[in-house]
Amino acid sequence: MSTAADLDMRVPSGTTLLNGWGRTAPSAAHVVAPASAGEVAAVLSGAGKAGGAVPRGLGRSYGDAAQCAGGVVISSGRLDRVLGWDPDSGTLRAGAGASLDALMRQFVPRGWFVPVTPGTRHVSLGGAVAADIHGKNHHGDGSFGRYVQSLTLVSPTGAHRLSPGDDDAGSYWATVGGMGMTGLVTDVSLRLIAIETAYMRVDTERADNLDEVMSRMTDSDADFRYSVAWIDCLAKGARLGRGVLTGAEHAQLADLPARLRGQPHAFAPRQRLDVPFTAPGGLLNPLTVAAFNELWFRKAPRRRQGEILSLAAFFHPLDGVGSWNRLYGRRGFLQYQFVVPHAGSEVVRRALEALGAAGVPSFLAVLKRFGPRDPAPLSFPIEGWTLALDIPVGARRLGAVLDDVDEMVAAAGGRVYLAKDARLRPELLPVMYPELDHWRARCRVLDPEGIMTSDLGRRLGWLEANPA
Ligand SMILES: Cc1cc2nc3c(=O)[nH]c(=O)nc-3n(C[C@H](O)[C@H](O)[C@H](O)COP(=O)(O)OP(=O)(O)OC[C@H]3O[C@@H](n4cnc5c(N)ncnc54)[C@H](O)[C@@H]3O)c2cc1C
Repeated sequence: MSTAADLDMRVPSGTTLLNGWGRTAPSAAHVVAPASAGEVAAVLSGAGKAGGAVPRGLGRSYGDAAQCAGGVVISSGRLDRVLGWDPDSGTLRAGAGASLDALMRQFVPRGWFVPVTPGTRHVSLGGAVAADIHGKNHHGDGSFGRYVQSLTLVSPTGAHRLSPGDDDAGSYWATVGGMGMTGLVTDVSLRLIAIETAYMRVDTERADNLDEVMSRMTDSDADFRYSVAWIDCLAKGARLGRGVLTGAEHAQLADLPARLRGQPHAFAPRQRLDVPFTAPGGLLNPLTVAAFNELWFRKAPRRRQGEILSLAAFFHPLDGVGSWNRLYGRRGFLQYQFVVPHAGSEVVRRALEALGAAGVPSFLAVLKRFGPRDPAPLSFPIEGWTLALDIPVGARRLGAVLDDVDEMVAAAGGRVYLAKDARLRPELLPVMYPELDHWRARCRVLDPEGIMTSDLGRRLGWLEANPA
């Protein structure tokens, strides 16, 4: 894989080198930042001749989803204003470039929180829609698209106001999870949830192996709105899949210690550290990861109940360290995330065994249960188990091991998350996403000339049949 540094000398003038959060496959494109739906339409009208176009939010997808080599990348950065707020219904209307971070800073102090948050606040509303993002509450609350009341999409055929309540909601659901291929979302109306405090009440417990982790998570599904398990993916044998489970609820005022009750909605998270440069060989390797995992497991309490944590400490601990992706070195890293239906839960064990046997280290391995899916054809979450792993590029046999895991996942009726993908083999895409043709047909209605395209889409050939 080329790195940003390798490519610096080859970037054509007037273009910008862009990569995803994993920093694995940079490519150069013309970047434009329109300030209105009209300007987006004008960009799209010229984009066919310019090599196609893709929307881009805050570039937090891990792979190449928000890149368009040789074409146009349309940044939503200037579409970031709050456009309306109805405190009675808790409905917010904002530009698609607004980040969840900015929205939380405005609305948490007023007692409102986003219904779904990923592991970072630094994603845009448009990126949240386009990846139909999920959080630690998917098992009960579902994914992002469920909370959007309406959105404006500017596709190559013009502006469309779309809603899940439309008689024909096909264009709405093709846009949710559609990875920017139906056009650019310019604004979103979103239902927020009311919170009594800006804190979480968290229970933590250690489990000694995968069976224990999975059975405790299954048993406590209904007990917690938010739940997740960190897995030590280097533990082997009887300790395979040992982990630390956390379950949490939004804290009530009465849960807070007296010193926090005076300002129960205080929310001003700060970045405590910044990684100023890329560690040449990467600081995260099998040795450091094994040491970290051992320490992390032992540091966790066997059982602790009712710990009070800030929203940022519970949901976004990584946001406390700026540019932490540089720790993986010049070659970058992959985030590999799959989901399998409950009937295929054995794949979680087999994947951990395969990765462990190959000595593939993962600094962050996270296991979660998903609830029922959205009607969006390309949305990632389906009911079952999802495992997400951060893996440094360069680990021996990495490609072959992940190819094997892909096969297991596909055979079990599961899929990998496209917002994190950097390497899936194209032939597995229709197996993992059986409604691909249906989605593609809707894309053709909104974009008959095949103007919307991305490095991810070209790599997977998902719109190949388009006439562009
Ligand atoms: C540390 C970290 C933790 C994460 N945790 C989670 C998690 O828990 N759950 C989860 O679901 N995801 C998670 N993610 C992934 C992230 O939520 C998604 O990749 C999200 O799409 C990123 O939003 P963005 O604004 O950065 O979008 P980008 O990365 O810029 O773009 C992502 C996709 O959205 C499209 N897009 C962006 N803006 C628009 C728009 N206005 N209109 C139409 N399409 C658009 C792009 O074309 C692209 O296909 C995590 C990422 C990181 C870095």
